Amino acid sequence: MRCTHWRRVPLDLAREARERSDDTCIDRAVQCQLSAHDDGRHSGLLTDAGAYGTALWLHWHGTDDAQLVLLSDCPVAAPVSDGEGCCLFANHAEQHTWEDAPEEIPCAN
Ligand SMILES: [Zn+2]
Ligand SMILES: [Zn+2]
Repeated sequence: MRCTHWRRVPLDLAREARERSDDTCIDRAVQCQLSAHDDGRHSGLLTDAGAYGTALWLHWHGTDDAQLVLLSDCPVAAPVSDGEGCCLFANHAEQHTWEDAPEEIPCAN
């Protein structure tokens, strides 16, 4: 299940994202792309229109100021033939976007 947190994109970061990516339509708000999580560190995709294999992300933690970060795409695709790629960034927390997890995640304790 996807995280339901949204964050309004600060105007200065939206402008910076446009300048860095040449993408003229940066959304005014982004939804966290991670699977549902409890740690309060959210990541929303601003644009992947920049350099190949990278994307600009908005990171925020609770109500703290959001940060603009340039990250490489997650290289992990689903382990099946024609497996779909992951829509997140390299070394992200939580699950890959192609991981549908109907069963409970095992407890780490
Ligand atoms: Zn989140
Ligand atoms: Zn991934």
